[in-house]
Amino acid sequence: MSAAEGAAGANPANPERLRERLRDLLGVDRWVEANFPAVAPSAEEEVVKLLQSYPGEIMVIGQGTSFPSEFTPPSDALILLTSRLVEHFSYSAEDQVVEISAGWSLAEARSRLSSVGVVVPALERFPNGTIGGRLAGISSRHTGGRDGWTQSLLGITVATPDGEKLQFGGRCIKDVAGYDLRHIFTGSRGNLGVILKAIFRCRPQSEWAAYGYPVSTPRPAGRISPVLRKLLDPKGRMRSGV
Ligand SMILES: Cc1cc2nc3c(=O)[nH]c(=O)nc-3n(C[C@H](O)[C@H](O)[C@H](O)COP(=O)(O)OP(=O)(O)OC[C@H]3O[C@@H](n4cnc5c(N)ncnc54)[C@H](O)[C@@H]3O)c2cc1C
Repeated sequence: MSAAEGAAGANPANPERLRERLRDLLGVDRWVEANFPAVAPSAEEEVVKLLQSYPGEIMVIGQGTSFPSEFTPPSDALILLTSRLVEHFSYSAEDQVVEISAGWSLAEARSRLSSVGVVVPALERFPNGTIGGRLAGISSRHTGGRDGWTQSLLGITVATPDGEKLQFGGRCIKDVAGYDLRHIFTGSRGNLGVILKAIFRCRPQSEWAAYGYPVSTPRPAGRISPVLRKLLDPKGRMRSGV
């Protein structure tokens, strides 16, 4: 289906029709039964296809832990739930690096890492949420010390609002050549696109126990550069609820 065909009938006000359109587009039904239009893609390529072809506004939600309890998802935007984006989880003991899809819950990711004796300090602070939500929801940058975000986050893969898949950084510090764009999406609150997966440097648990939380530098919530936003989302399709 072309983008134009995809646009026809892709109206959140007509959920049944929208569900059909999205099923045709993705080749599989990812609709979630709810009081609002929602899909839960389970592969990066499904997110990419969705962003390339769905013309309306999209709001990304992980576990929703940072939304206020009175929050009601809008009925005029498509909710993209990331909780089924769990394609990748690979830990390399040799490099002490882990690559994790955005939908993994922090609790499950921590428990898996703990079973091999390591932690990602920057992921320790909040008990709930997803990897993607943690990155997009950061409200303070843990810049201090070797375990701050700058050190912890080695790479990030994202889908832009137009459905372009981009990777910044990689498994080694030296993969970050030229402009270091890894951190553009941290704290982006779903405004700049969808975080698909991230690569983190791990630390031995024994070392971490003696080390404590990284130092944090407060950063005003939800402040995204208007220039950056215009550049990445010229049509203003990504809507943030928080
Ligand atoms: C305003 C606010 C209040 C918070 N309060 C608490 C608290 O009381 N207790 C606590 O433990 N933690 C709190 N946190 C931290 C938050 O729970 C963690 O950051 C958590 O990991 C979020 O994960 P989530 O999956 O629930 O994200 P969500 O709450 O679902 O989303 C957080 C933000 O990130 C965006 N987002 C989610 N996933 C993606 C993705 N894959 N790509 C792009 N954007 C994405 C959403 O659109 C939203 O703007 C708060 C964060 C914020 C921003």
